[in-house]
Amino acid sequence: MSKTIYIAGLGLIGASIALGIRRDHPEYRLLGYNRSQESRIIALEAGMIDAATDCFEKFAAEADVIILCLPIKQTIQFIKKLATLDLKEQVLVTDAGSTKAEIVAAADTYLAPKNVNFIGGHPMAGSHKTGAAAADVHLFENAYYIFTPSLATKKDAIARMTDLLSGLRARFIEISAQDHDRITSQVSHFPHVLASSLMNQAGAYVSDYPLTNNFAAGGFRDMTRIAESEPGMWTSILLSNRESILERMQEFQARLDQVAHMIQAGDEEAIWQFFEAGRQTRKAMEIHKRAGVDSFYDLFITVPDQEDIILAILEILRGISVVNIRINEENREDIHGILQITFKNKRDQQEAFRRLEEKTSYSISIE
Ligand code: NAD
Repeated sequence: MSKTIYIAGLGLIGASIALGIRRDHPEYRLLGYNRSQESRIIALEAGMIDAATDCFEKFAAEADVIILCLPIKQTIQFIKKLATLDLKEQVLVTDAGSTKAEIVAAADTYLAPKNVNFIGGHPMAGSHKTGAAAADVHLFENAYYIFTPSLATKKDAIARMTDLLSGLRARFIEISAQDHDRITSQVSHFPHVLASSLMNQAGAYVSDYPLTNNFAAGGFRDMTRIAESEPGMWTSILLSNRESILERMQEFQARLDQVAHMIQAGDEEAIWQFFEAGRQTRKAMEIHKRAGVDSFYDLFITVPDQEDIILAILEILRGISVVNIRINEENREDIHGILQITFKNKRDQQEAFRRLEEKTSYSISIE
C-alpha cells in the first residue's frame, strides 16, 4: 500500500534518507520541506521527492510518517509546531538529530499528550558535506541507526521505521536517549573536542616552530581528521549534551594527569602498560572488524617510487570498486606503506590483496 512520507530538511541526512526510502519503496509518495530553494530544486530534479515546499505546515496533515532532518534546535521547534497541527491519526514522527535526550524530552512534553506517535532516531553516519547535493544512498550502509523510544513511542514504531528505512541497509538498534547521549559523548562528541584542541594547539605551535606543519603526518592526520567538521553542527551538539561531555572531559583530564605523573616519575613499566592497554582495547573494538561509521577496508602497499606505478596497480585491480586512494607523505613512521587503497567491503579488500600478492612482489599489509 502506498504511503506518504514527509521529510523536513532536505540536507545531507534528509536527502540521503529519501534516496534510501525510494530504493525499497518506489511506490511511496515522498514530500519534502526545505527552507532554501537550492536543496528543494536539487531534490525535485533528482527525483528524490515528488513535491516540495518552504512552508513546513503545508504537507504535515497528508503524511503517514514525518521525518525531521534538521538541526537540533529546529527539530525541537518543529516538534512543538507539530503538536499544534491536525495530523493523521496514525502518523509516526521521527528525527535524525545527533543528540537525543533534549529532542525526546520535547516529544514527551508536546507530542505524547496529543497521542502522537514519536520515536527518536539517529543515523550514525555522515560527512563534512551538507545539502541535498551531497545525498548518497550508500551513506548509512552498515552504520548503526539508533532508535530511542520514550513515553511518546507506540509499540508499532520501530517495526514501521525499520520497514520504511530498509533501503538504507543500516544496522538498526534500540537504546534509551540517555544511554545514547552518554555513549556518543565518549566516542563521538568528546573526540571532536579533542581533535579541534589538538589542531588549535599545533596551530599555535607553528609560530614558534614552523616545521610543525611539515612534520604532521599519518598519525596526526588520523587523530585530527574530524577537526574539519562543520562547526555549527558541533556547537549545537556540545550545547545539547553538556553534562555527559563535561564529565568525559573531567575524567580525561585525570587520565592526562596520571600519564604526566608516570613521565615525571620516569616510571617505564607504567608507561609501557599505559600504551599496551590502549593498544589491546583498540584491537578489541569493532572499528577493526567491520565497515562501521567512518571505518573502511584499507590495503597499504609499499611501492617503489617509479613512473606509472599507480596505473599498474589499478590495472591489476580492474573491476574492483575502489573508494579512495592515498599516497602517504614522506614521514611514514606510523603507517605501513606509501600507497593506501580503500575498498567498500571486506570481499573487495581480500580480492585486491589476493591479486596484488599474486602479481607483484610488493609488501602489502591489511591493518
Ligand atoms: P545539512 O546542513 O545538510 O542540512 C540541514 C537541514 O536543516 C537543511 O535542510 C537546512 O535547510 C535545514 N535548516 C537549517 N536551519 C534551519 C532553520 N533555522 N529552519 C528550518 N530549516 C533549517 O545537515 P545534516 O547533516 O543533514 O544534518 C541534519 C540533522 O542530522 C542534524 O540534526 C544533525 O545533527 C543530524 N546528523 C548529522 C550527521 C552528519 O554527519 N552530517 C550525522 C547524523 C545525524
